[in-house]
Amino acid sequence: YKEKLKSLTTLPALTRDGRKVELEANIGTPKDVEAALSNGAEGIGLFRTEFLYMDRNNLPTEDEQFEAYKKVVTSMGCKRVTIRTLDIGGDKDIPYLGLEKEENPFLGWRAIRFCLDRPEIFKTQLRAILRASAYGKVSIMYPMISDIEEVRKANKLLEEAKSELRSNGIPYDLNIEVGIMVEIPSAALTADILAREVDFFSIGTNDLTQYTLAVDRGNQRVRGYYNYFQPGVLRLIKYCIEQAHKHGIYTAMCGEMAGDPEATKILLGLGLDVFSMSASSIPLVKDVIRNTTMEEARALAEKALMNG
Ligand code: PEP
Ligand code: MG
Repeated sequence: YKEKLKSLTTLPALTRDGRKVELEANIGTPKDVEAALSNGAEGIGLFRTEFLYMDRNNLPTEDEQFEAYKKVVTSMGCKRVTIRTLDIGGDKDIPYLGLEKEENPFLGWRAIRFCLDRPEIFKTQLRAILRASAYGKVSIMYPMISDIEEVRKANKLLEEAKSELRSNGIPYDLNIEVGIMVEIPSAALTADILAREVDFFSIGTNDLTQYTLAVDRGNQRVRGYYNYFQPGVLRLIKYCIEQAHKHGIYTAMCGEMAGDPEATKILLGLGLDVFSMSASSIPLVKDVIRNTTMEEARALAEKALMNG
């Protein structure tokens, strides 16, 4: 079976009736690129950038970040690299930032909320990402978006970062794509509004499941309640994909669900375009895709939306 999976590496993720989807990898550091490529990743769907900020005593400089992003972008050749801006807070603390202890950190000052309140930290990262975009195909992704205002505020800072580079004659990709993670129910429910102002969605089922079902994703005591097959979660995913397609943008998924072979047919049936997962899951998910049809997938999705 292992040999069979290995032989899939160079084959496309194509259903038996010809629907092509993209399988990409989630990475946490530039070192992970090797495994992504050897497992046949068609791109990086989630580059978590927190590692740059952790295990140190000060903020990473623009140059340090640029070097790390550029390394990933160049080693991926012309394949897409989706770089997610800083997602700290929640369960990820960075001691030197002096974040106050919060009673509900997952509902607190996290990710884009922190970045919008600390524009210099955010813009430093945005300039580093933009500079890396001159070396390949980069997409920028904002985490923990809950409404359109946050997108507009983040994009305003992105425009400032671009003009700072321009005035220094530093190149970047003028057509760089900007998307958002859909991982808060309010974002999924307003996908029709958000889709008008972004280039793509990427569904973060780890947080979307936690927030939709009111289940702490890290609490073992309530592990049994944490279930992304719940119709409530699936309907948010369905709406998000429908609205994306209606407005001509693609939907990716980068939460754990995207790499779960048990979920693959349902997600195909719901119309998901890009599956991003840990590299080692890519052959397993591809095997499922290559052995199904859209008709079967749609029927399974219909059933799952009604709780089986
Ligand atoms: C998610 O929430 O599904 C996600 C991919 O982001 P993270 O796990 O880093 O919160
Ligand atoms: Mg998340």
